[in-house]
Amino acid sequence: VPVFKPRKCSVCKDRFTPTKPLQKVCGWSCACQVAAKQRVKEITERTKADRRETRAKLEKLKTKSTWLKEAQKEFNAYIRARDAARPCISCRRFHQGEWHAGHYLSTGARPELRFDEDNVHKQCAPCNTHLHGNLVHYREGLIERRGAVVVDRLEGAHEPLHLGIEDLKAIKATYKAKTKELLK
Ligand SMILES: [Zn+2]
Ligand SMILES: [Zn+2]
Repeated sequence: VPVFKPRKCSVCKDRFTPTKPLQKVCGWSCACQVAAKQRVKEITERTKADRRETRAKLEKLKTKSTWLKEAQKEFNAYIRARDAARPCISCRRFHQGEWHAGHYLSTGARPELRFDEDNVHKQCAPCNTHLHGNLVHYREGLIERRGAVVVDRLEGAHEPLHLGIEDLKAIKATYKAKTKELLK
């Protein structure tokens, strides 16, 4: 019968004399703990893999309009973070309510300026929603903040913008990262 040198149990840290080669635990109870930990690890990994799979399946089902909405949401969040210290672009007031990211030239009228950082600013909900952008004052605020050259560029002609799903994914990721960077 081979004799093994005493060693420390990997679970309870007590010293014990192994009866088998490569024996790491002192007995049955510590062996059960190792097995239970292993089981938890396996289940956790399985759950993570399932979640990844579900996410991948859902991503595949997303339509272009879903990607557009998600990209716009990230872009708008970035605009609000960028302008956090500034008042509403059009009424120039700070207020307690909700802040929006308001387009100067609307996404309906000028879809090619949808993701143009010069065209979108933090705006109060009353101006954005109730006053439909409060555009006369928006324009004044824009000239004040960015200059007439920028306003001329926005109001000028633009190449049509054709964004595919991959472009929208990239925009979403870019603005998510930019917001994170700003909030650091
Ligand atoms: Zn033990
Ligand atoms: Zn306002």
